[in-house]
Amino acid sequence: MSSLLRFNVVSEAFKKRPIEVPSPAERPSEFFGKYVFDRKKMFRYLPAKVYEKMIDVIENEATLDMATADAVAEGMKRWAMEMGATHITHWFQPLTEGTAEKHDGFVEHDGKGGMVEEFTGKQLVQQEPDASSFPSGGIRSTFEARGYSAWDPASPVFIIGDTLMIPTIFISYTGEALDFKAPLKKALHAVDKAATAVAQLFYPDVKRVISNLGWEQEYFLVDEEIYAARPDLVMTGRTLLGHESAKNQQMDDHYFGSIPERVVAFMRDLEIQALELGIPCKTRHNEAAPNQFELAPIFEETNLAVDHNMLLMMLMKKVARKHGFRCLLHEKPFLGINGSGKHNNWSLSTDTGILLHGPGKTPLDNLRFITFIVETLMAVWRHNGLLKASIVSASNAHRLGAHEAPPAIISIFLGKQLSQVLEHIEDGTFEKNIGTKHAIHLDIPQIPELLIDNTDRNRTSPFAFTGNRFEFRAVGSEANCASAMIALNSAVAEALMDFRERVDKKIKEFSEHSDSTPQAELTQRAILAVLREDIRLCKPIHFDGNGYSEEWKQEAARRGLDVEASCPLVIDRYLDESSIKMFHKTNVFTRAELEARNEIKWETYTKRIQIEARIFGDLCLNHVIPVATRYQSALIDNVHKSRELFPAEEADRLSANNLSLIRQIAGHTCYITEHVAQLVEARKVANRIESGREKAIAYHDTVAPLIEDIRYHTDKLELIIDDEIWPLPKYREMLFIC
Ligand code: ADP
Ligand code: MG
Repeated sequence: MSSLLRFNVVSEAFKKRPIEVPSPAERPSEFFGKYVFDRKKMFRYLPAKVYEKMIDVIENEATLDMATADAVAEGMKRWAMEMGATHITHWFQPLTEGTAEKHDGFVEHDGKGGMVEEFTGKQLVQQEPDASSFPSGGIRSTFEARGYSAWDPASPVFIIGDTLMIPTIFISYTGEALDFKAPLKKALHAVDKAATAVAQLFYPDVKRVISNLGWEQEYFLVDEEIYAARPDLVMTGRTLLGHESAKNQQMDDHYFGSIPERVVAFMRDLEIQALELGIPCKTRHNEAAPNQFELAPIFEETNLAVDHNMLLMMLMKKVARKHGFRCLLHEKPFLGINGSGKHNNWSLSTDTGILLHGPGKTPLDNLRFITFIVETLMAVWRHNGLLKASIVSASNAHRLGAHEAPPAIISIFLGKQLSQVLEHIEDGTFEKNIGTKHAIHLDIPQIPELLIDNTDRNRTSPFAFTGNRFEFRAVGSEANCASAMIALNSAVAEALMDFRERVDKKIKEFSEHSDSTPQAELTQRAILAVLREDIRLCKPIHFDGNGYSEEWKQEAARRGLDVEASCPLVIDRYLDESSIKMFHKTNVFTRAELEARNEIKWETYTKRIQIEARIFGDLCLNHVIPVATRYQSALIDNVHKSRELFPAEEADRLSANNLSLIRQIAGHTCYITEHVAQLVEARKVANRIESGREKAIAYHDTVAPLIEDIRYHTDKLELIIDDEIWPLPKYREMLFIC
């Protein structure tokens, strides 16, 4: 673009006014879920028997028979047609970013040369999208290129525009998962079973445990025209060059500040549409960086919450465009200011309404609370490297360890109160009286009435206890939460399975040695004994200090935590024997699936850096060098003219500054030209590497650092060169206009 265009674009953006968003006639409670085939609608549109069967399927994982599916499809179709829908699609989450859909009309031949509206149970339950171009990591070799999408009855269908959207899992012909949702459902099943078995030690009437997820979605908004003038934003979602503006977030004036009108209009529109689709939006505010915002819903069952997050990200992009914005979900769109994350608030609760990660009022409740806390610690300790692998990506790598966001080491923050409770259990303050009959009943109340405070926050922790849940903060803003939730729920399932086995063994041991102690007391004693072992074991994962400090890196390595920061190497953790064993035991992934998925991860990493390197090279050669040269020529011209006009000595004195600028520009442009050539060469070398893993490592080690290295020089040029001819919108223009 010419610089004139840059000024036009920026001044037009300044003039933009908010779009009027009409208020819905009803209160949110009334339009919530308007476009969702939820239980209320199922009750209305399905025969009573079919409705009951569906509830059984949703709540108790009962199998869905074809007759029921047909009846459900019939009711769904009636509702969807009343709502004006004409098409259906299976909606799934392939291993690319985002979601996929393929629309079909509700029409069939009627056999008499006409058309009928039709939608059968078979279409609802299973489809075979021609999906040979979705990544499969080699699982689906081309001769059996079939992939199936299969309805997930636990996530209700919904309507967007004229299309009925059916949430589905996506699997290969031979049954391997080709998506995020199939393994997520398996992980949730595993944690349900394992946690129910442990919860029953305390509350025998528990039948089911639910995993809860409340995500907090951070994002940036950039004016649409300005965005269009930045090829790097368009192609990669982040700025590959651009000098920090004089003012960024140092005044802390954006966080929780009053929201600009144009943005409020966008948020209102987004919230209304999200609520209509059943996403329970609750919180909105400015974030720390300029033009950065956050949206958080009320937490939901994890599978549904994941779908809702995917849906929300899709909506955000769409609604932003309507308001003349582009929504950036990249973890680090701008250098020098905060990036975006997606805190995953996670907890387990029972079908009887008990929050297992929340403290209670009775001694038994508190022992249960400690159990679930400690076994979560165990899971995260055993699989800290894997959990990190579940959240790394080419884009999140910019955020991790960059002093604003979680460090690239997974540890858990517990806070003072809870740390003390664990210490007491460990050092035997609880044990003293064991042996006397009432020991445990006397002791457990010493766990203070745990209203664990929420204020004791440590923003540097990647995994923090926050009163009645854990907050996994390292998840990236553009990621599918499922990846983190698969790893976490499976790992916790394994820890709980293991816990229950050991408790049962201890109970048996104890009862062999005592015949008079009541069963309940033996059980509690066994639980405490196992907890004490575990508290000792998993200590290395507990860290309440400053996660950004240099000392922590060294201390963490001493503790045996995973301190690897290179994305392609972190991905290896999926193939550790401990990970493979855990995923096998919980029936979430086979080794073949893990291997295939890793191939995709390495390939995705490579492709993203490759695209960045290409576009960055273009920007350097086609945008930066030409204007630098143009400005340099103008300076040279000026120096010559001074010499014509003034005596030599005076001319040199007057031109000293320009001469220095000419040299600086020459220095930077030479550096850039030379190193862009190196960048191209590094890419060529990397591209010749056969192995996906080795190629990703080469991109990480040789290509990515060169981009950062050259950027220093392009950003220096931006500071020197005449603002009038600089072609790309600057940080101050992208970040302070709403
Ligand atoms: P913060 O103070 O960290 O911004 P909020 O109070 O806004 O957090 O809550 C963040 C998210 O955590 C919300 O989605 C909220 O519903 C969710 N949340 C609250 N309690 C739980 C819980 N027990 N389990 C899971 N998520 C929860
Ligand atoms: Mg939070």
